Amino acid sequence: MRPEIIRHVPALTQRVTGWRKGGQEIGVVPTMGALHEGHLSLVRAAKADCDRVIVTIFVNPKQFNNPADLEKYPRTEAEDVALLASLGVDVVFMPLPAKVYPEGFATSVSVSGVSGPLEGSHRPGHFDGVATVVAKLFGMTQAHRAYFGQKDWQQLQVVLRMVADLNMPVKIIGCETIREADGLAMSSRNARLDTASRAKAPALYNAMQRAAAAIRGGMPVPAAMKQARAEVLAAGFDEVDYIELRSAALLERVSDLEAPARMLAAAVIGDVRLIDNIAV
Ligand code: AMP
Repeated sequence: MRPEIIRHVPALTQRVTGWRKGGQEIGVVPTMGALHEGHLSLVRAAKADCDRVIVTIFVNPKQFNNPADLEKYPRTEAEDVALLASLGVDVVFMPLPAKVYPEGFATSVSVSGVSGPLEGSHRPGHFDGVATVVAKLFGMTQAHRAYFGQKDWQQLQVVLRMVADLNMPVKIIGCETIREADGLAMSSRNARLDTASRAKAPALYNAMQRAAAAIRGGMPVPAAMKQARAEVLAAGFDEVDYIELRSAALLERVSDLEAPARMLAAAVIGDVRLIDNIAV
């Protein structure tokens, strides 16, 4: 069945208020569209748990620190809605930026600590934009449960921190990263890789896997990270923004293998910036 398309907040409020009065459990999957199997896995998890599922599609200008990246971000609305129809989503909420940030909008949610390093330092303001829009989406959808991908590990930690700190009445579910057959983490940005770059892109995940195995085998963390960086560059990436081992929840530096640890990386190939992370 085709989902209901809602573009205005009052219409969404009306719909979710009715569901809530009926005692129904609401799940939300926030996305920026250009949907792929990674997004769909979140939708399936939400469908399995909840009576009603809302998918939001909103390319949030506040989380783009680079205007060219916002401009080039893929938009595939008709295909997205068709995919969501096949999964039985109840509502697709696709607001215009002016509906989310109307005249006079003046609030920013800033989560310190976990927002600071890695993506936070390479994309100033990014996580304030994420936290602000996610807080708003929780308010607008009144969801009981919200589904996020581990693909954006740091984002997931930021959202968990915000929800705990602000006592938001929503349960966050972190879902596993879905990968292409060759290991490349699915991402809307992969569509922008040319053939040559697409062939080289799995090198990031492969280098991370090798480094994780080396660390588990006793190689010192700095040496393993140095080697992984060299491998990614040798495979044809243009730049490695970071490849680091961090504590899984607080994302603090770790020099030894402390459980639970997470390896996180960001690297640029052509004009596409890819991120990935794995458990170590
Ligand atoms: P985005 O549209 O990129 O903002 O992503 C929307 C949600 O889908 C976020 O919670 C992402 O972490 C999640 N997501 C994106 N790619 C994947 C993937 N390959 N596997 C699992 N979840 C993903």
